[in-house]
Amino acid sequence: MRLKDKVAIVTGSARGLGREIALAYAEEGANLVLADITQNELESVAQEVIALGRKAIAIPTDVSIEERVNRMVQKTIDALRRIDILVNNAGGSLGSYMTMICDLSVTDWSAVINTNVTGTFLCSRAVLRHMMQQKSGIIINLSSGMGTRARAGMGAYSAAKFAIEGLTQAMALETSSFNIRVNAIGPGGRTATPSMLKKRTEMPLEQMLQPRIIRELAIYLASDDSAGITGQSFRAVTWLRDKKDTQELIERRSQE
Ligand code: NAD
Repeated sequence: MRLKDKVAIVTGSARGLGREIALAYAEEGANLVLADITQNELESVAQEVIALGRKAIAIPTDVSIEERVNRMVQKTIDALRRIDILVNNAGGSLGSYMTMICDLSVTDWSAVINTNVTGTFLCSRAVLRHMMQQKSGIIINLSSGMGTRARAGMGAYSAAKFAIEGLTQAMALETSSFNIRVNAIGPGGRTATPSMLKKRTEMPLEQMLQPRIIRELAIYLASDDSAGITGQSFRAVTWLRDKKDTQELIERRSQE
């Protein structure tokens, strides 16, 4: 087991990648704090973790609200005495999906920035105070392929994920002398989570990234296997456009 007895907080863990990562960590021996804005599904993920023989605490939390985040982190300390891993996963494009900047409402813009960026900042700040004292810790931020390369119709989301890339680098610099590592995972292309399957338009299912790959990357970055690695961003697949271009090139070559 690569995470035996570690205490991990995973935000946005009621479904999708957050749930995948939480269950993967439980399988590797970690005890989990599950934080999500939705409550019902969160309880059922907690039951899945408990069925794996680990502790699980479900704490309904809106990551964009300071006092809710601080309360969730304090409850974690009260119940489990320490925090070894934080995965800032809560996020997404929310109501801004495929909306051009000229049509984007301030409400949709703010929701994306508050959930992805402010949420990552607030959760990181709250756990860092404990991790710096205990002189160890791991933070993993969910970025995106759009965290380094924007896409039309995804301006708010790209801005948010670019910000997360910057936060990752700055936090890594500030915390490396405290034995804390901060890295980002950018699922490039599309990962076949339930919410992404609803949005999927042009991409065949077999070309989508399977959540299993993100699980492995998240375990690697949370464990001693990645000792010494900090301030880095890992993209799980290449950009969709590049993949299409490459595929066209290979097909043209085979026809020549
Ligand atoms: P999802 O929509 O399936 O799950 C997101 C979870 O976050 C949900 O359970 C939701 O309730 C929760 N959440 C939303 N707002 C919240 C808030 N304010 N406070 C607490 N929880 C909140 O998303 P997913 O596809 O699993 O993606 C997870 C992360 O990975 C996101 O940050 C997303 O941007 C990133 N990502 C996903 C893909 C993909 O293809 N699935 C690609 C690139 C990046």
